[in-house]
Amino acid sequence: MNVFELTRRMIYIESITPNEGEMAERGERGVGRMAEPREIVAKIEELLGPVAGALAGRRVVVTSGPTFEPIDPVRFIGNRSSGKQGHALARAAAAAGAGVVLVSGPVCLQDPCGVKTVRVKTAQDMLAAVEAALPADIAIFAAAVADWRLSDRHAHKLKKQAGPPQFSLTENPDILATIAGRTVERPALVVGFAAETDDVIARAKAKRLSKRCDWIVANDVSPATRNMGGDDNSIHLITPEGVECLPPQS
Ligand code: C5P
Repeated sequence: MNVFELTRRMIYIESITPNEGEMAERGERGVGRMAEPREIVAKIEELLGPVAGALAGRRVVVTSGPTFEPIDPVRFIGNRSSGKQGHALARAAAAAGAGVVLVSGPVCLQDPCGVKTVRVKTAQDMLAAVEAALPADIAIFAAAVADWRLSDRHAHKLKKQAGPPQFSLTENPDILATIAGRTVERPALVVGFAAETDDVIARAKAKRLSKRCDWIVANDVSPATRNMGGDDNSIHLITPEGVECLPPQS
């Protein structure tokens, strides 16, 4: 019996097979490429079984990033959301033992390990993906959804020579308000976000009521706070019980 066979009998061995694709050697392609480190980590986490954390057995849906609303095949209406906050929340929920579906708009971030990531582009697609992920115990809406889309997107690239175009816009569905207002399969805890520069707490309280969600995470994005786009953030958590102000954290 060789050493490998002996080891196999003594311990449980699971192999992670190589991927197919470009090799380290120039011009070589095929099966044999090392699995990505995050795939290896995900497999190890899967083998170790569910994490016994505060959210063990819970299903969590998180939206993250911006949405892009097409104008024509090459242009879109979008915003600068990085998706850092939503992705971090999805990762944290998975680390606490939840089964997580992350519905993400276009971002330059890797899909978090141990999370099912659904990539979408538009607000309408994001709403459909969230509804497909229900039932869930908790829904967290961290995405910066575009408020409007073109009433009629153009099938062909608009030509500059035709002069500045006029657009007719239609309001996008409010995903947070739609899910919070459901009578069937409404998640027990629906969390929305509010980025405000003035009257942060008063406006966030009003938003919690108007969108019928349970909690609002209020971000003060006035220039002095430097919260916008940074890696640290200080938030106010608005719940039916009151307001909790949390210091800057990652
Ligand atoms: O109305 P406002 O955009 O300030 O609300 C922010 C909150 O509502 C965030 O939680 C955001 O993810 C959510 N939202 C949404 N769908 C929209 C607009 C906002 O889910 N169309």
